[in-house]
Amino acid sequence: MLSIKNLHASIDGKEILRGINLEIKAGEVHAIMGPNGSGKSTLSAVLAGRSEYEVTEGEIIYNGINLLELEAEDRAREGIFLAFQYPIEIPGVSNINFLKTAIGEIRAYKGLEPLAAKEFLTLLKEKQKLVEIDKALISRSINEGFSGGEKKRNEIFQMAMLEPKLSILDETDSGLDIDALRIVANGVNKLKSKDNATIVITHYQRLLDYIIPDVVHVLYNGKIVKTGPKELALELEEKGYDFIKEVEEVEA
Ligand code: ADP
Ligand code: MG
Ligand code: MG
Repeated sequence: MLSIKNLHASIDGKEILRGINLEIKAGEVHAIMGPNGSGKSTLSAVLAGRSEYEVTEGEIIYNGINLLELEAEDRAREGIFLAFQYPIEIPGVSNINFLKTAIGEIRAYKGLEPLAAKEFLTLLKEKQKLVEIDKALISRSINEGFSGGEKKRNEIFQMAMLEPKLSILDETDSGLDIDALRIVANGVNKLKSKDNATIVITHYQRLLDYIIPDVVHVLYNGKIVKTGPKELALELEEKGYDFIKEVEEVEA
């Protein structure tokens, strides 16, 4: 589904990603861990197509297409979903209207008719139950006045509604209490299917007590310095990131 080769990216002339290689197949959940400042958010922003970042080298192939040629909007229409570290509030735009528009655009892009009102409502109900979000939250303006946990739940609800092929959760666990953590994890676990893939970016091992990744990568200083099974996350938790730094220095 996703193949990243020798990806280099800069912001304001400063190189942040320094040769990322990553292969993700449909059906898989990959965790990307790494210390603060290692480039995790940069990688997710580059995948989503944020224009402040300049890709200077390498390629990203997503479902057979050259992702770097697509604008951010088209990447979203192609099924890439990015959950933000800090979800924004959008007063005046209700969740329902936002989702109606977004689904309409995705369908139009695929050459499909808009969803009939009745079908949309059926979908809304189905996903609302699946991610266990309060009905009242769905009708309100996006994230306006939502608590941290409610924002997370809403994000998972948006993800459920939009049915992305590749979801990227960037430190969606930061500042979450255990209940909110479970909400995010349950959502990811319930939405997992053989047709979609998820990248879970996290600084802590905690979230991975609830989401079991198929593969764990460690990002350090703009490069993936270690890849392994889920046990790698436990090893990191035990030994801390200094262990990776030592490995990197020996290899350098
Ligand atoms: P992470 O998500 O792993 O904490 P980031 O991708 O947010 O890391 O940041 C990687 C590095 O890029 C950091 O050293 C950060 O200071 C730097 N960086 C981010 N934005 C800018 C910018 N606008 N100008 C210069 N450096 C930046
Ligand atoms: Mg950070
Ligand atoms: Mg970050």
